[in-house]
Amino acid sequence: MKVAFIGTGSMGGSMSRNLAAAGVDITVFDLNTESMQKPIAAGAKGAASAVECVTGADVLITMLPTPQAIEGCMVAGGVAAAMKPGSMWIDMSTSVPETAQLVAKHLDKSVRVMDAPVAGMSVGADKGTMSIFCGASAEEIAEAKPLFDIMGDPAKFFHCGAQGTGYAVKLVLNMLWFDYYMASVEALMLGVKAGVDLETLRLALVGSPANSTIMERDIIPLLRDGDYDEGFAVALACKDLRLANDLARSVGVPLEVGSAVEQLYRRARARYGDKAGECIPAKLYEDDTNTPLRYAK
Ligand code: NAD
Repeated sequence: MKVAFIGTGSMGGSMSRNLAAAGVDITVFDLNTESMQKPIAAGAKGAASAVECVTGADVLITMLPTPQAIEGCMVAGGVAAAMKPGSMWIDMSTSVPETAQLVAKHLDKSVRVMDAPVAGMSVGADKGTMSIFCGASAEEIAEAKPLFDIMGDPAKFFHCGAQGTGYAVKLVLNMLWFDYYMASVEALMLGVKAGVDLETLRLALVGSPANSTIMERDIIPLLRDGDYDEGFAVALACKDLRLANDLARSVGVPLEVGSAVEQLYRRARARYGDKAGECIPAKLYEDDTNTPLRYAK
């Protein structure tokens, strides 16, 4: 099986490296040629263009930043038209079904389309322990499963339903995490300003029906070190929230909590910059009340 892989950035660089290291016949391409060196060092071939990369491939995997980049590469860049009849396009980017449908109009009718976005951050891509959320038929998944099992943890592979449902699960998951995180920050700030010790409050909530993994685990780096998690930029978090809101509009679901949280993220991005971490909206509450949510040293 010949595999083409386009988009060798923070996530795709490690994913394609792991495929090459496992002996997969793989050719990579990225607009940033420097980023192709990681998979090439593990045995991947490098292509001079996206069209060259996909020519003759049985499977194309894309790992691109935005729906616009996917459309640019697949449609304007000519990749969709260059795909071999009977081959398979697996989009592992965080995107929306509309973009895949738009691209599909430029594919040969015999090309199969799957969405398989991921979770697990760059460390999961590096170690091959990502969760994968796949939208496709059982037959298509069976064909691609050996590749998924190299890139992700087989115990965290989810067949979400028909094509498009993998994108939906990924967007719902990210939106809910951001919703929980901001609700947790707001609740902690309220209790602290009302005079409760921060850790006493957190432990009381962990032992209550209002517990969550955010309260148990994910909020600790903020409380202990003022760590807003620059490993995932607020600009990408804003993209994910925008796509969740776009999806809600396209399927006719009101998203009152999700759209309020999107506004908080956009305000934090405007105030603290694109590269600030995904937890930076917490700082809006800290700055507005002049109260860092921090354990006493
Ligand atoms: P990234 O910006 O590090 O990498 C994207 C790569 O795509 C870049 O190297 C860029 O040069 C390349 N690219 C852009 N347009 C191109 C084109 N037309 N042709 C060829 N190459 C092109 O992004 P990333 O962090 O690797 O994220 C990729 C996708 O995975 C995004 O959709 C993101 O939301 C999702 N994701 C990221 C994480 C994370 O922790 N970083 C976790 C889960 C999912």
